[in-house]
Amino acid sequence: MRHAGVVQRVLVVEDDDAIAEPLAQGLEREGYAVTRVATGKDALEQNDVDVVLLDLGLPDLDGYEVCRRIRARASTPIIVITARGDEVDRVVGLELGADDYVVKPFGYRELVARMRAIARRAAPVEPLATQHIGTISIDRRTRKVWSGDVEVALAPKEFDLLALLAEDAGAVVSRQQILEQVWDPHWYGPTKTLDVHVAALRKKLGQPQLIETVRGVGFRLAAES
Ligand code: CA
Repeated sequence: MRHAGVVQRVLVVEDDDAIAEPLAQGLEREGYAVTRVATGKDALEQNDVDVVLLDLGLPDLDGYEVCRRIRARASTPIIVITARGDEVDRVVGLELGADDYVVKPFGYRELVARMRAIARRAAPVEPLATQHIGTISIDRRTRKVWSGDVEVALAPKEFDLLALLAEDAGAVVSRQQILEQVWDPHWYGPTKTLDVHVAALRKKLGQPQLIETVRGVGFRLAAES
């Protein structure tokens, strides 16, 4: 399944090879094109990247200064990687234009989830006027849904869930993808809430077969219904 706004080119600015190396390898395995630099000066020479992962403790320039200079010339999303758990550092980083931050040692999945969330914010999916799937109609602009001619009142998360599945009807969307995109990019809690929402959505739409459970993976919207 493809999403508009998925990050493809990542600039990793980190002088510590023990962090940069596995990070770059992991991201490359996920399909990202990774450029690695170890200094602020080199970071400022890079163009055409979709997101910057920026260590604050660099050998030449202060990470804050690098952040400020990148932000002064481009809207490229920046995720600050900081060894400093101090709230002040986080706030300063965000004030200088960073979009998010992770504190070392950070979880790899956490970082990727944040990158995805930022990519979505940077390039939201262009809303279609009204999408029809079988007898269901979805209007993303007004967030309204109809079953036939009858409007179906959905809770916000129910709408988001339906809209996500409808982005690529027929394609399987994993439970983790749904939790990250509909709930929270930092979601690692129990996933029962997802099942509750799917059940409610099926009931409200009056078409239990519309949302198929793909056992052990996730859900998909039946393209034909
Ligand atoms: Ca460093």
